[in-house]
Amino acid sequence: MTAQLLDGKALAAQVRTQLAGRVAALRSAGCQPALAVILVGSDAASQVYVRNKIAACEQAGIRSLHQTFDADLRESELLARIHALNHDDSVHGILVQLPLPPHIDAKRVIEAISPRKDVDGFHVASAGALMVGQPGFRPCTPLGCVRMLEHIGLHDLRGRHAVVVGRSNIVGKPMALMLLGMNATVTIAHSGTPDLAHTCRQADVLVAAVGRPRMIGADMIKPGAVVIDVGINRGADGRLCGDVDFEPAREVAGWITPVPGGVGPMTIAMLLSNTVQACDQE
Ligand code: NDP
Repeated sequence: MTAQLLDGKALAAQVRTQLAGRVAALRSAGCQPALAVILVGSDAASQVYVRNKIAACEQAGIRSLHQTFDADLRESELLARIHALNHDDSVHGILVQLPLPPHIDAKRVIEAISPRKDVDGFHVASAGALMVGQPGFRPCTPLGCVRMLEHIGLHDLRGRHAVVVGRSNIVGKPMALMLLGMNATVTIAHSGTPDLAHTCRQADVLVAAVGRPRMIGADMIKPGAVVIDVGINRGADGRLCGDVDFEPAREVAGWITPVPGGVGPMTIAMLLSNTVQACDQE
């Protein structure tokens, strides 16, 4: 069996076209969605991510405010900047690109963002809302994964087993909670999980969010499973690859996301979606 491709790039393009329509309607009603993107320092990967997010905003008609600061910015200055954006009614979403330089406490910075503008969904209030099933901003990467599942008709996962490999606060844990919200039976695996291959083979839906090139082999995949690869890694050949060993895995899986062109574009589309939602809620 060769798996069907879960094409995140194509789905993200559809989502962005729909959002552009909503943005046009909001603009004609007198409210243009606006996203403030803060970058501290000159980390090369962060610069690329920020550039992509800003370009995507512009394409959808969302105003973006790009604020770049030197790596030696004082934490108090960053907090003051966030405070000002919290009180700026023309700004609907605030995103602080991570990682921050080590002298800045990322937790304190994220908690300084108003939950009403927390379009990344990292604030503890957003995490709590997800935990108890209340409305709130959901983190963009797991939200993008859910949209991909819905796209292939998987709205309710009752009777299915989902395994999430990775338990970070921004991907693994919220992903597991969202899958639970879709009625899946959920297992979270991590570096302390014994016999990871056995655990993964139980999965009807397998989400890999580890950050290790091609660590999920074909022998770890249940035939016909939906495999969502969140990982973005540089392989030994210098090319981008996921956590899943794509070519052999696609001979076993039923559906599989590519890297690049899978979860990454959906993450950006969900950031735009959250920003439009923030403006809509005004
Ligand atoms: P973290 O490093 O925060 O978390 C990695 C997780 O993987 C941890 O929970 C860790 O376990 C687990 N892990 C590490 N080694 C193993 C192992 N051998 N077996 C099982 N579990 C293991 O990473 P992130 O969640 O931030 O990111 C994960 C990947 O997703 C990265 O490649 C990142 O680049 C990518 N990413 C992609 C995005 C996209 O838009 N496509 C967005 C965000 C991230 P433990 O907790 O026990 O240490």
